[in-house]
Amino acid sequence: MADKRDYYEILGVGKSATDAELKKAYRTLAKQYHPDVNQNNKEAEAKFKELSEAYGILSDADKRRQYDQFGHDAFNGSGGAGGFGGFDFSGFGGFEDIFESFMGGNPFGRRQSKKGGPQRGNDLKYAMDITFEEACFGVEKEIQITRQQTCATCSGSGAKPGTTAESCKQCGGSGQVRVAQNTPFGQFASVKACDACRGEGTIIASPCPDCSGRGKVPKKARISLNIPAGIDDGQTISLRGEGEPGTKGGPAGDLYVGIHVKTHAVFKRDGYDIVVDMPITFAQATLGAELDIQTIDGNMKHAIPEGTQTGTVFKLKGKGVRHLRSSSRGDHYLRVNIDVPQKLNAKQKELLKQFAEASGEDAGKSGKGFFKR
Ligand SMILES: [Zn+2]
Ligand SMILES: [Zn+2]
Repeated sequence: MADKRDYYEILGVGKSATDAELKKAYRTLAKQYHPDVNQNNKEAEAKFKELSEAYGILSDADKRRQYDQFGHDAFNGSGGAGGFGGFDFSGFGGFEDIFESFMGGNPFGRRQSKKGGPQRGNDLKYAMDITFEEACFGVEKEIQITRQQTCATCSGSGAKPGTTAESCKQCGGSGQVRVAQNTPFGQFASVKACDACRGEGTIIASPCPDCSGRGKVPKKARISLNIPAGIDDGQTISLRGEGEPGTKGGPAGDLYVGIHVKTHAVFKRDGYDIVVDMPITFAQATLGAELDIQTIDGNMKHAIPEGTQTGTVFKLKGKGVRHLRSSSRGDHYLRVNIDVPQKLNAKQKELLKQFAEASGEDAGKSGKGFFKR
C-alpha cells in the first residue's frame, strides 16, 4: 500500500483541481496510455489501470472526500468504497430508472438486480473505541464480525441437497409483479418484487436443514484493520469488499468501521493540535519555573519565564498529532493557569502579608480582607 502513488500525482493535477480539470487530465492521459494504441505494452497497460483507478476515485465526490481525509487507507488498498447504506430499493426498478434520468446518474450507488441476477452483499457497520494515543500514532487492530456467508451444504440455493426449488405460482416464476407506485414525481406503474417468493421466482419446498432455506449462514470472521495515525473521533474507515458476500456472483458489500476516540485525562485535541491546561503556582508564575509537562511523546521539561500571566499559552511546535495524509505534525499548546491557594497556614499568610506590604499594599491587621484597597 505504501508504494501506491498519490491519485492527484497520477493525474498530474493539484489537490484543488475542479471536476472539469480532473476530467481533462484523465482524458489526455487515457488517450496516451490506452491499450488500443499501446498493444503489448505492459507499462502503458499498468499506467492506464492506475489512471482509471485514480479518476474513478477522484471523480466521485464522496470517494474523493474520503481519499483526501485518509489517503489510500480509505479504501484499504483496493480502490473505492461503494454503496449507499441503509436504503433498500428492492423491487423499485421503475422508479430508480426515472430517478436516474432526472439526476443523470444512479444516486443509490447500486442497481437492484432483476430476478436471478447478481446482487451486491450488504454493507456492515462496526463501532470501535480506541485510545487517544492510538489515534495519535496509529494502531493495528483485529476485529471480529459476523457475516452471512453462503451455506456450504446447499451452496446457497436454500434447497435441501437432492431437491430443487419450484417455480412460484403467484408470479409465474418471474419474481416480479406490476403495481402503481406513488413517488415524489407522481404516480408510476412500476415493477415490484413478488411477495410470495420474495422476488426469487422460485419457492423452496424442502429447505436446507443447515440454513433453513436462507442459503446463508452466519459466520464469524476476523479482520485486521490498520488505523492510520491522525484519525479523529467520529471518522469512518471503509474496508471495501469486507461486508457480506454478494449473491449469484454479485460483489461483496463494504465494511464501515466508525472510530470513537476515548477522551484523555490530560490531552484535548483540536484538529491536529493538542491543547493542555496546566495549573501553576503563584510562585512559579512570578519567579519563573521549569515545569514537568506531559506530551504525547512523553514527559519533558518546559521553562516558563518570570512574570508569566495566567492564561498564557506556550506553543511546542511539531509536538501535536501526525497528519493523516503526511508526516507533518500539529502543535502542542500548553496553557498555564495560576492556581490561587485556598488554605494557607500561618507562616504562608505572614509571608504574603510581608510581600503585600513590600509591594506598598495595605494588607490589613486582622488577616481578613487581605489585598483590600
Ligand atoms: Zn443451506
Ligand atoms: Zn413469486
